Amino acid sequence: MSNCIFCKIVRDEIPAKIVHRDDRVTAFHDINAQAPTHILIVPNTHIRGADEISAAHAETVAAMFTVANALAESHGIAASGYRLVFNVGPHAGQSVFHLHLHLLGGRRMAWPPG
Ligand code: AMP
Repeated sequence: MSNCIFCKIVRDEIPAKIVHRDDRVTAFHDINAQAPTHILIVPNTHIRGADEISAAHAETVAAMFTVANALAESHGIAASGYRLVFNVGPHAGQSVFHLHLHLLGGRRMAWPPG
């Protein structure tokens, strides 16, 4: 999508601290980190959000989790633990309508979240 901020990051039209890129997904540091490690993993194709996922997206979604787990390992938070989050809609605070998986770690997190 031409005006989607994460599509622009995928296309290298706006800068981001990219930590992973392959033919399915791109991962970059969140601009407003909520934990010592806070990375967003996004599909290269535009999907509005987790509420739009169907079986047709199975390989893309599997790739997102595979990359998230590999990044947790490479960023040294695999053993201490981490949180993977999809926000969907207003009550969850979704603010960007391009599917993104939050990878958060490096500190102890409360449950349930506020
Ligand atoms: P959500 O609230 O789940 O929609 O998360 C959107 C996330 O995208 C927030 O954590 C923002 O800080 C992050 N974000 C927004 N714009 C950018 C950007 N240009 N680069 C990196 N992260 C961004």
